[in-house]
Amino acid sequence: MDLDDYRRHGKEMVDYIADYLETVRSRRVYPSVSPGYLRTMLPASAPVEGESFEAIIGDVETCIMPGITHWQSPHMHAYFPALNSPASLLADMLADAINCLGFTWASSPACTELEMIVMNWLGKMIALPEEFLHSPERSGGGVIQTTASEATLVCLLAARTRAIKDHQQTDPEATASDINARLVGYCSDQAHSSVEKAALIGLVRMHYVESDDNLSMRGDKLANALDSDRKAGLIPFFVCATLGTTGACSFDNLKEIGPICVKNGLWLHIDAAYAGSAFVCPEFRSWLQGIEYTDSFAFNPSKWLMVHFDCTAMWVKSSQALHRTFNVDPLYLKHENSGLAIDYMHWQIPLSKRFRALKLWFVLRNFGITGLQKHIREGVRLAQKFEALVLADNRFEIPAPRHLGMVVFRLKGDNSLTECLLKRMNSRGRVHCVPAALHGKYVIRFTVTSTRTTGDDILRDWTEIRGTASEILGALNGSPARIKVSLAETRQKNEAFGSSLLLANSPMSPKIVNGSFAAIYDTADIFNECMKTFGRNPSEGTDSPAMRRRIKGILMSGKQFSLDSRMDLVKGIETCCRPIADSPELPQMKEDEDSTGSQNIRHATK
Ligand SMILES: *Cc1c(COP(=O)(O)O)cnc(C)c1O
Repeated sequence: MDLDDYRRHGKEMVDYIADYLETVRSRRVYPSVSPGYLRTMLPASAPVEGESFEAIIGDVETCIMPGITHWQSPHMHAYFPALNSPASLLADMLADAINCLGFTWASSPACTELEMIVMNWLGKMIALPEEFLHSPERSGGGVIQTTASEATLVCLLAARTRAIKDHQQTDPEATASDINARLVGYCSDQAHSSVEKAALIGLVRMHYVESDDNLSMRGDKLANALDSDRKAGLIPFFVCATLGTTGACSFDNLKEIGPICVKNGLWLHIDAAYAGSAFVCPEFRSWLQGIEYTDSFAFNPSKWLMVHFDCTAMWVKSSQALHRTFNVDPLYLKHENSGLAIDYMHWQIPLSKRFRALKLWFVLRNFGITGLQKHIREGVRLAQKFEALVLADNRFEIPAPRHLGMVVFRLKGDNSLTECLLKRMNSRGRVHCVPAALHGKYVIRFTVTSTRTTGDDILRDWTEIRGTASEILGALNGSPARIKVSLAETRQKNEAFGSSLLLANSPMSPKIVNGSFAAIYDTADIFNECMKTFGRNPSEGTDSPAMRRRIKGILMSGKQFSLDSRMDLVKGIETCCRPIADSPELPQMKEDEDSTGSQNIRHATK
């Protein structure tokens, strides 16, 4: 492809993207593919000769899109938002074309300087204290990291360096590894798993402080933990507080935690990955009270602020500990302005950095502070609407208060009901949510994410959820609950059943096992039942060609078959039940039943 081709295909690609985003609501938000689906569609090795752009892009719609979870869909309510916007997409096109690696100021001055400027803009927009902004008088400032996980790790490592140096002041004999082995960090039991991961990598203990009834880490519990760990000979060094937890968007109490950290000389890092974007609106800033006590603060504009992934904004009050932690200075990276300008390689784990400041700059300018505030407020309004709908249905409950754009809800009663509801919702693919466990309660998290979500979408999605709940509760009331019996228990009760099941599950043994009523079923039985109930034969229910062949084989092979064969049939029947037919928006894959599954491989050449 030369640049003339690029011009042409580039315009086509922009059209494809605009069409995709404009019509994403009509796609099934959660795909109906099984693990390994793509392996049967694509060749096992790269093509020897180059292929045309048309051939490649052609396979996107047939092979890739059917396996996409559409994060930009208005019906996507899982995880946290990962939004984009036209300004962000366009900026990154340019950044990718420039493709400079901004590790030192000299490696591309604009890359470093723009990052410093937009990080100051963003810091002011969310009302961070002055010490977090770049200025010639201070060593603090902002940097764009790849992810919130990485920001937490970077700050934990900087805190570790500081703690080791501090400790060596009083105990010069102690080695870094001796001290490292005694370090302990703190976070709430609601903190993100990335905090645990940072501690694993840093080889330090992490103490999970029990959160209160509002899922918030409080000062007294933290102080108790510090006391007991000190008594045990450990060295507390780091606290990660969360503003906007992943489970329920709860907030740790900075006002209480902050002074304790200062008093004990602990590095206080704030993980506000999702909620940080909301602080562009003054009305949400009460959660920031106590921010003056913190050493570092990070949030993801790549979540809610319409700057697409990756973009984590991280600020430190002093970059000294970062420098001490990450400073390596090989000759080939020295430049004549070393020391006069920021070299971001000392602020992060990798050497290189993408020109991510560009998309942040485009978005901040294109929306303006007012535009971004409007976007955040609309997300919160829609979540309030959803909350009101849930509260109006007395079969449901909201076990933790709604904050910002996230509602957690569950069916009253046993956890298994909510679990069942979520599974069924997701398998239908028309709304997509993920669960969380809050103090032992299984909840469904519902986040308003997309910029395309409207009030009508919220109503539609709630109707879908309610309808599914009615089915589950209806089935529960209509028929006796099925009790699961473990295999061991079954064996105890019926020796013959157990042995025949083992026989039937062993691949080398005959599939048809005589002599046990439990393991043998009549083909006609299942087949007729399936045709009667679903008007389809079981082999039509699965989208795996291999499984279809297997089921066909079973059906043709004889009158009786074993338990595991029957289970394949039942799986086929269950997929029949799934409303494949009523999701016409789902791009259907073509399948040639007689071939080996390689029919979708295209070997197009230029
Ligand atoms: C999303 C999230 C993270 C992880 O973000 P990454 O950028 O993917 O590492 C960490 N903490 C919280 C509170 C989050 O919501």
